Amino acid sequence: MIEKVIDGVWWIPGRDKFLPDSHMYVIGLPDSGEFTLVDCGLMEMGAYKLEELDRGGIPLKKVKRIIMTHTHLDHIGCLSDILEAAPDVEVWVHKDEADYLVRGDDRIVFGNQMFESMIRSQYAIPDGYFTTKVHRKLEGGEEFSLGGISFTVIHLPGHSVGSIGLFNEEHKMLMSGDTIYADGAIGRYDLFSADPGELKRSLGIIAELGVDMLLPCHNRIVRRGAGPMVQSTVKQWQALIGD
Ligand SMILES: [Zn+2]
Ligand SMILES: [Zn+2]
Repeated sequence: MIEKVIDGVWWIPGRDKFLPDSHMYVIGLPDSGEFTLVDCGLMEMGAYKLEELDRGGIPLKKVKRIIMTHTHLDHIGCLSDILEAAPDVEVWVHKDEADYLVRGDDRIVFGNQMFESMIRSQYAIPDGYFTTKVHRKLEGGEEFSLGGISFTVIHLPGHSVGSIGLFNEEHKMLMSGDTIYADGAIGRYDLFSADPGELKRSLGIIAELGVDMLLPCHNRIVRRGAGPMVQSTVKQWQALIGD
């Protein structure tokens, strides 16, 4: 069920089945007349996400773009359903993953061979299903006003090569993708394009942000006071991860 996080930011919780389904976030002050989606979800979850947008009073025709925190299956699986319902929506992805999507290389989407064969047998996925147009390739460091709310793009490689976070300075709010979660967890770093050393550095970047509100793509969100939790998560994992 869609929930308001603060004025102009909503959370649509993922509905995990036998595979995880990423959360979707929606950004934009209603008066601004434009909305941005962050991530989509697993295959077959598009109808649910679209229903929740409708329930939240977010008109699809005012959705201007989808920003992907990264392109794993549980985030991008239902992108095509959303684009079918809203063909004019732009897709923004970090440049290091955009090129894979554009040329139809789905190794990042699946993460490894075992997942790929498991998922291909579970769902009938046609060849080229994840090939998509990318309208804007992000690099990290961009500052955007998204429907009246400011965000900085932070490149956080490690969980995947083009993972990003979106940070709002005013609320010290971080949409962290799969890089860091609540309650001491971080994203896995063994899939295709992952890099433990990079992840360690990315966690260091997160520790410097002074995060108060943590909005990850799985599990619970932390509406305020996330600072100590983030610090101890980073410290704990930096000690465990090799370079
Ligand atoms: Zn992921
Ligand atoms: Zn995920």
